[in-house]
Amino acid sequence: MNEIIYISPSTFYYWEKCPLQAVLSKLPESRNFFPNNPDADLGSLIHKFYEKQNEWKIDSLERFNLKWSHEIIEMNKYYKENELQSIYFPIQWYASYYTVKKMLLCNNLINKPIHFNTNSSEFKYLYEQWINNDVVGGRVDLLVKENGVVRQVVDFKTGKIFEKLGKTIKLKEVYKQQLALYASVILENQNYMPELYIEQISGRRFKVDIDSNYIQDLKKRAIDLKNKINYTIQNNTFENLSVCNTENCEYCFYRHNCDMYKNTFMNKRIGLRIDLIGKISNVKSDIITLISGSGNFKIKNVRKVCKYKVNYDCEVYNLFFPENNDNIVFETTSTVIKYE
Ligand code: SF4
Repeated sequence: MNEIIYISPSTFYYWEKCPLQAVLSKLPESRNFFPNNPDADLGSLIHKFYEKQNEWKIDSLERFNLKWSHEIIEMNKYYKENELQSIYFPIQWYASYYTVKKMLLCNNLINKPIHFNTNSSEFKYLYEQWINNDVVGGRVDLLVKENGVVRQVVDFKTGKIFEKLGKTIKLKEVYKQQLALYASVILENQNYMPELYIEQISGRRFKVDIDSNYIQDLKKRAIDLKNKINYTIQNNTFENLSVCNTENCEYCFYRHNCDMYKNTFMNKRIGLRIDLIGKISNVKSDIITLISGSGNFKIKNVRKVCKYKVNYDCEVYNLFFPENNDNIVFETTSTVIKYE
């Protein structure tokens, strides 16, 4: 297995909590197992509009609508043809606040000045700029440069940006760390501390103040994390990196490849969901019986019964497990089956 080259600022928070995620994320079999969340795909499209606003000349409602429709048609085509993704077709039905997000993006883009001729301007607005040092590397949504000096770092977010900690509401730690790591790379090439912002889809910007001690500390933690991960890759002991607990594992994208997770949490409830491993013993109407080491489970609300093969060993991910329900679980839109 190849060593990790860069720690991405957007994943550092998760990799530090469970470094095994970094290793598993590089495996080809980790990809395209769970369907993409339509909110994430819509978020990527919104980022693309910011990045390409000049190139696409989005300066009027008509031009915005034309381009938006084209992109959504293309996305729906992919959703429809891709078996995994087809459960979320059409994206307009499944992405949360689809219309609101579209309207806010449109207002934000066409009310903003478009920065043509950026190369001849004193200011440069650089979208999706790759920055890196020896440890950290990632794409910044927007860098604003003045005479070669980075004045602003802007990260666009389409979802919630605050979290509640006790009685306080504060910026999500994952976003603070992301901005701090961008700053740590930029500060290696200039003395001026850029202003750090998170911009929501409405166009509202939040200035994020981060002190230099926090940035230095994070920089050191990123170096330590990279060394730790690569040491285990060199020695083929990366399984030891796992930090398996409900908080880290519940929504981990790599759990279908993670032995520690399978040994610890398969057939066990986490919140209101469960992943099962066992043998399909019976398929009747739209109810499936699965025999597992923890007893028999009935899977209900099955959409495609033919996906379940009797007498086959399998793993079933993303099932809804209501409380006080005697081993009766329900398929969700994102339920995925894996056969041995
Ligand atoms: S499933 Fe849990 S232990 Fe395994 S990689 Fe994900 S977070 Fe880590």
